[in-house]
This record gives sequence, structure tokens and C-alpha cells, in this order.
Amino acid sequence: MFVTRFAPSPTGYLHKGHAYSGLTAYAAARAAGGRFLLRLEDIDATRCRPEYEAAIYEDLAWLGLEWEQPVRRQSEHLAEYDAALERLIAKDLVYRCFRTRSELQNEFAAAPHGPMDAFRGAPLPPEEEAQRLAAGQSYAWRLSLAKAETLLGGFSHLTYFVEGEGWTAARPEVGGDVVLARKDVRTSYHLASVVDDALQGVTHVIRGVDLIDAAHVHRLLQALLDLPTPVYRHHSLVLGPDGKRLAKRDKAETLRSLRERGVTPAEIRRELGFD
Ligand code: GLU
Repeated sequence: MFVTRFAPSPTGYLHKGHAYSGLTAYAAARAAGGRFLLRLEDIDATRCRPEYEAAIYEDLAWLGLEWEQPVRRQSEHLAEYDAALERLIAKDLVYRCFRTRSELQNEFAAAPHGPMDAFRGAPLPPEEEAQRLAAGQSYAWRLSLAKAETLLGGFSHLTYFVEGEGWTAARPEVGGDVVLARKDVRTSYHLASVVDDALQGVTHVIRGVDLIDAAHVHRLLQALLDLPTPVYRHHSLVLGPDGKRLAKRDKAETLRSLRERGVTPAEIRRELGFD
């Protein structure tokens, strides 16, 4: 059975980019006679708000989407992500990273060898780590690519199927030693997303091409956690009048504002290439 999902984060109101992503997954589920799930990726307690969550339901229903109940809200499943993290800790595949954001930025400014998030590091010497723990310093858990590579004997045999491209070999190096548990919440987007896709039986992950690198990281996490690998499809992004992709932070016009000024769901669907 074909199962796909749309997984927005309730950190702002949805715009046409979200509409396109949700409609793409929904149409694919419909075409395959499969299931469409909505999942709320709300682990970031400081940025997620109940009114954005309510607006997601309202805006997607307005667009004509239907999804299964109950909706999985990641904030209610932290224990499950924790269990996955514990398995990685037990296998010694993660390490504590005490670096602050500004320390990371300074390191990258000094040695610009890649994007911020392609960080590669190593555990601290045990005495220093013990001191920092005793001092109550907070830390993130990062995946050790070096350890994972040794355990698996390289990554090139980790393949996954990308619609429109075919079989692809995972290159988790693009993500570096990703954070799997943040300082403020004991999970991260990568860990929660991979655990949930498996737990919800997602067979097809359909999301924007901006998350193309995430698939490389997710394929590795699936191997390390013995989880199945779905098929991936990366759709194009909706661009604004300036030719840049729509983004919450650039104040892209929200679906609710379009609705308020009289735009209909049918018009939006047509403009985005549906119907
Ligand atoms: N919560 C993610 C976002 O809003 C979705 C990522 C995914 O579909 O895996 O970008």
C-alpha cells in the first residue's frame, strides 16, 4: 500500500510553497489509491505555536486536502525518538558536542571548508567531557560519520530509489556529523523524521528539492537503526516574483491572506498545476 505524508512545522502560516508540497503528496496518494498522512513537526517548542497548528488544519482543509486521523504530533512522541537515540548511543555512533553556535561559527570562519551543517567533529577527551558534564554544560548529540563509516564499511552500498533519477548511493558526508539531539530538545529534525517515516509505514517521501541532502543523511540513519527505506521524490519549489523560493522568513504571502483577499482554492490549485 502506497503511504505518503506532508510534514509541516507549525512555526508560521502556510504559503503557496506548502500548498504545492501538500497538494503534490496528496495527489500522488490519490493517484496510487494510497494513504495520505499529515504530520506536525513541532519539536521546536520556542518556535511552534498552537495558532499555527490550527491554521495548518484550516488552510489545508480549505485547499481541499483530506488526511487521516489522528495527526501525529512529534512533540507527543519524544520518548520514541529518545529510544532511537539510546540505540545509537549504545552502539557508540554518536558523541556529545558542547560547542555553542558562536563557537561553531568562529571555527567555520577560520577554516571555511564547507557549509555550517557539514561539521565533522569527535568526542572530547573523557576528562574534559566529565568536567563539562559535572559543570552542567548543555550539549547536543551528533552522529559520528567516522564511526558509522567504520561500522558499515563505507556508505556506497547504501542506496535508495529517487523517482525520476533512479537508484542513488547515499552520500551522508553532505550533512556532516548531523545533530541528532539538540541542546534544548532531545531529538532533531533528522532523527524524528526518520523514526516517524518508519513508524508510520511511509513508503514514499515526497518533499521539496531543498531537502535533497536530507535523504542522504536519512538513508544512513535507516541503516543504523534497521529501518526500512522509502522511495523518495523531490519536487520543485514555488518561486516568488523575485525568482527566489517562497519562505516564511521572507514573509511570503500566506494562504490565509490570499483567502482574505478573495482568492479561491480552485485558483490556487490551478495556478500550481493541479486540477
Ligand atoms: N518539517 C519539514 C519542513 O517543514 C518537513 C521535512 C520533511 O518532509 O521531511 O520543512
